[in-house]
Amino acid sequence: MCGIIGISSNKSVSANIINSLKKLEYRGYDSAGVATLFDGEINEVKSEGRVDNLEQNFDLKSLKGNIGIGHVRWATHGIPNSINAHPHSSDNVSVVHNGIIENSTILKKHLINKGHTFKSQTDTEVIVHLITENLKTMELEEAITKTLKQLHGSFALGIIFKDIPDLIVGARRGSPLAVGYGPNENYLGSDSYALKSMTNKITYLDDGEFCIVKKDQVHFYNQEGKKINKKILELSSNESNYDKGDFKHFMAKEIEEQPLTVKTGIKEYLDNVNNEINIFNFPWKINEIKSVTLIGCGTAYHSCLMAKYWFEELTSLDVNIDIASEFRYRKNRFKKDSLYIFVSQSGETADTYAALDLCNKNNMKTCAVVNVIESSIARDSNFVLPIHCGPEIGVASTKAFLGQILVLYILALKIGSLSGQIDKKNYQVKIKDLKNLPSLIEKTLLIDNDIQAISSTFNEAKGSMFLGRGFSFPIALEGALKLKELSYVHAEGYPAGEMKHGPLALIEEGMPVVVLAPRDSYYKKTISNMQEVIARGAKVLLITNKSKDEIFSENIWETIEVENTNDDLLPFLLTIPLQKLAYYSALKMGYDIDKPRNLAKSVTVE
Ligand code: GLU
Repeated sequence: MCGIIGISSNKSVSANIINSLKKLEYRGYDSAGVATLFDGEINEVKSEGRVDNLEQNFDLKSLKGNIGIGHVRWATHGIPNSINAHPHSSDNVSVVHNGIIENSTILKKHLINKGHTFKSQTDTEVIVHLITENLKTMELEEAITKTLKQLHGSFALGIIFKDIPDLIVGARRGSPLAVGYGPNENYLGSDSYALKSMTNKITYLDDGEFCIVKKDQVHFYNQEGKKINKKILELSSNESNYDKGDFKHFMAKEIEEQPLTVKTGIKEYLDNVNNEINIFNFPWKINEIKSVTLIGCGTAYHSCLMAKYWFEELTSLDVNIDIASEFRYRKNRFKKDSLYIFVSQSGETADTYAALDLCNKNNMKTCAVVNVIESSIARDSNFVLPIHCGPEIGVASTKAFLGQILVLYILALKIGSLSGQIDKKNYQVKIKDLKNLPSLIEKTLLIDNDIQAISSTFNEAKGSMFLGRGFSFPIALEGALKLKELSYVHAEGYPAGEMKHGPLALIEEGMPVVVLAPRDSYYKKTISNMQEVIARGAKVLLITNKSKDEIFSENIWETIEVENTNDDLLPFLLTIPLQKLAYYSALKMGYDIDKPRNLAKSVTVE
């Protein structure tokens, strides 16, 4: 969460800082600010709200300086206003920060006693004063090393100095930060996306490291302040992924890209000639693994839940799933013969990373399922299964969800086949079905007008429910989450069989209820549960798959039929109408679909 940019150049930097901040806005958008150094002075501009506000409120062209830092905020300490917006500055130092300083209250007290005065409610401001204090008696490298040691919590930092006018300091612990290399200028950025229009040469800082970025050189240091060497990575450039094209929103584009997401995943993991799944360099023998534990947050957690059903169906492994923020603080029984799988789109999700770190410290077998292969979770896992869906910019995840469940399904299928749990013939049929999946998703995407037409019922209602059983239950949770995230209406995902144990009390006349009832082994049971909600006045949107058989229930409000495939793969198709439902309902409300309120992508704070 939050985006940081820093540029040290031989020309004016404000225009490029603003352009990069616009790209970083998906990470945080409640306020924005820039500070540059010009003529021995730090000049700072800050505004509440979007980068557009900043541009409207200030003449940024007149913000001179060849060195500068910028920030888009996702507030943790202090309301989103222009005072709490970053950068935060003293007379001598200006700081942008991503993360949380956990000991800020104690540090603040100590600094106030020393005569420092604070302007904002943020935790960040202590960093400004600590550095200012330490610089009174120390050289830069020593002052930074000491300051970082005084801070508890997580941070990525960009810092400029009035009296050291030719450099930016970057530092990282827990929140991502990259250095970029350009012609006569160098950069700091929260991600490569922000830097991509300027460079494809990147170095990622690791936890505990800091760097000094000048226009013509960059130096890296470890947490003891010792100089270290770091590799420069060359990223492949595909600018079109960062463009909305003809779509109104990134989310709409990303929903439509899903056949490609699945096609790319299949290409990556299926050997077409031998009809075999290839997972190269898997570091363990299959009989070394007796169970899997899948860990994620939000949508990625729903991917884990989806995978639990598949792993249980296709393999003989014990399967546990966990929400990362819960896992990290529980007294876990680590199991040597378990494979711990960490699912995160960005690969930077702070809670998921902390759970991984805990597993690494206990020498567990760790595997990352991520979109960003240069990310911390990918780098620190024993093994990585990338989802290859390209950048996902819409804050509410769509194609990354499909990418994650695809990779997890493929892994379950492979383990099931290797351990003899799935026979050869069945395995081949499942692979064949998998190959057809992209075209089925394409067809399912054509269901559009009907969903548009019914979507307003959901934002007009007080709340809604999404029900499913078995393979459809995780998709019900994901459908409800999408609606909450985008339309700000209450939506609850529930196992359909659980309604009578409590939530049925919520059903009242006209309440929209989505029932996912594909014609799988749960079908009849789910249809009975559907009848129970209809009997109590619910307006049921039934989502099922095409069939000649009639649906034996009356009084269904609307029905949507997705394509047919085997039971394992139906969750992919059921997801599509739910994503569209959330999209259209938010569109009708005129909400900011790619940047829903209070949220941000890449959740790098706890
Ligand atoms: N904790 C800081 C604040 O609330 C930084 C938040 C962020 O990462 O944007 O200002």
